[in-house]
Amino acid sequence: ETQTPDSDSSVPPPHVLIFPFPIQGHMNCMLYLSEMLVYSGFHITLLLTDHNLSLLRNNNNNSHPSSLPNIPRLRVLSISDCLPADHPRNLDGWVELLDSLKTNAYPLYKSLLLDLCKMDDVGADGFPAVTCVIADGILPFMIDASEEVGVPAIAFRTASASSLWIYYCIPQLIQSGEVPFRDGEDWDEPINSIPGMESFLRRRDLPSPCRLAKNPEDKVLQLLTTCTAHSERTRGLILNTLETLESISLEQIRAHMPTTYAIGPLHEMVRAYRSQNNVCAHDKSVSLWHQDCTCMTWLDQQPHRSVIYVSYGSVAVMTRESLIEFWIALVNSGEHFLWVVRSDLLRGEEWTNIWDSLSLEVRKGTEERGCIVSWVPQVEVLAHPAVGCFLTHSGWNSTLESIVGGVPMLCWPFAVDQQINSRLVGEVWRIGLDMKDVCDETTIEKMVRAAMNGETASEIRKNAHDLAKMVKNSVVEGGSTFENFQRLIEHIKSLCK
Ligand code: UDP
Repeated sequence: ETQTPDSDSSVPPPHVLIFPFPIQGHMNCMLYLSEMLVYSGFHITLLLTDHNLSLLRNNNNNSHPSSLPNIPRLRVLSISDCLPADHPRNLDGWVELLDSLKTNAYPLYKSLLLDLCKMDDVGADGFPAVTCVIADGILPFMIDASEEVGVPAIAFRTASASSLWIYYCIPQLIQSGEVPFRDGEDWDEPINSIPGMESFLRRRDLPSPCRLAKNPEDKVLQLLTTCTAHSERTRGLILNTLETLESISLEQIRAHMPTTYAIGPLHEMVRAYRSQNNVCAHDKSVSLWHQDCTCMTWLDQQPHRSVIYVSYGSVAVMTRESLIEFWIALVNSGEHFLWVVRSDLLRGEEWTNIWDSLSLEVRKGTEERGCIVSWVPQVEVLAHPAVGCFLTHSGWNSTLESIVGGVPMLCWPFAVDQQINSRLVGEVWRIGLDMKDVCDETTIEKMVRAAMNGETASEIRKNAHDLAKMVKNSVVEGGSTFENFQRLIEHIKSLCK
C-alpha cells in the first residue's frame, strides 16, 4: 500500500526527474531512491542512457523500456551518451564519458527537461510536468540546466560522505602542500588538513585523484573540486549514508550545505519498506550484466561462513598479473570462494585465456573449491549464511551492502572514494582488513586466512554483526535514516508547490 501525495487535489503530485551517472552503482542507489519516492506518492522519471537501456532490455528479455523496472508511477526514458558503442564505459573510459555527457549530451538533456517541465496538464501516460530534478552530483551540468529552465534541483552524491568531505577540502590539501604528493614521500604519513580525520587519515587513504595528481591543475582533481562546489548551488544534498556511520564528515558537510539528508543505506530502506508493506519485489533489477543465479545454488551447498565472496565492482579494470596473484592466493588459502570476474575486467583479453597458464594444482583447487561467475545478485549473496567474508574493491554501494549483511570485509581499493572507504572499514569501524596497495599472492593468502579464521576474524565478525544491527535500526520508524527521509519528502514537496 502506498501513501497518497497530497490531500489537496488541486496541487499536482511532485514529479521528479532523476538522472544517474550511467554506471551500475549510481543507477542502483538512484533506483532505490526512486522507488522510495514512488511509495511517498511521487511520480518519477528515471533517465538512463540509450546504451545502458539496451543492456537492460537484453537482460530482461527485451521488455518495453517503460516496464523497466516495473514500479508504478516510475517511468524510464533515455538519451544518448554520444559515445561510440564500443567506448569502454568502465574506469578506462569514465572521464571521456563525463566529458561527452557534459558537452555532447547536454543539449539533448536540456531540451528533454524543457519538454518535461512545460506540459500544462497530465500527459497521456498519466505523468504530470516535472517539478523537481535530482541531479547526480558529479553531473553539474544538470544544475545549470535546472537553473536555465527554472526548476529546483537537489544534488545526490552517491559516494561516501567522507570522500565528499575530502573533495571539499582539496583546496586546503593543495594549500598545505599535502597534495600533490612529492617524490619519495612516505605514504603512511598522516594528513593534517582535513578537519575531523586527523587521527586516522594517511596519504595512501586519500581518494585516487589526490594520490595521482602531478600538479594542482590536474584535470580530475579540478573536476572533483568543481562538482563539489556546484552541489552548493542546489536546494539540498542527498547522501546514501547514515548519521552514526559518518557523523564527523556529515557535520563538516552541513557547515557548507545545511540541507543535507543522510538517507542510507537506501537498498535496506527499500527492503524494509517492501517487507513491511508486502510489496512484491520481482522484476526490479536494473542490472547491466546478466545475473548468474547458479551461484546461489552453489552457495546453498557450502558450509556456514565458509565462503569468501570476491568482487571488484562494476567498473574496475585490472591487469592479468594482478588477477593471477589473486587466483593463486584464493586457491592456496584453502577457502571456498565465489568470484565475480566480469567480461571486461581485464583490459583487452578474456580472463578465460589465463586458465592454461595456471599450474595444475591451481586449476584443481579452483574446480574443487571455487565458483567463478560473471555477475551475481550481490545483495542476496551477502545475505547468504555461507558467506564468511567479502573481498571487495570498497565501492560505496558494496561497502554498504556488506555492512547491512553483517559480512566482514577484506578491502582492495582501486580508485576514487575506495581508498578512504577501505580505511574506514579497517581503522574506524574495524569491520575488516585494509589490503590497499599490495598485490602479491603471499600477502593476499595471509590476509584471506586472517579475515576468515582466528582471533582477528572473530573480532571483525563481531564488530560487523553489531554495526549491521545499528544500521538496520536506522531505516525503520524512529531511526535517523527514516527521519531524514521524511524530512526530504517534505522538503521536495515544499519546492514543488
Ligand atoms: N554488483 C552486483 N553484482 C555483481 C557485482 C556488483 O549486483 O556481481 C552491484 C553491487 O551490488 C553494487 C554495484 O554493483 O550495488 C557496484 O557499486 P559500487 O559502488 O560498489 O562499485 P562501483 O562498481 O561503482 O565501483
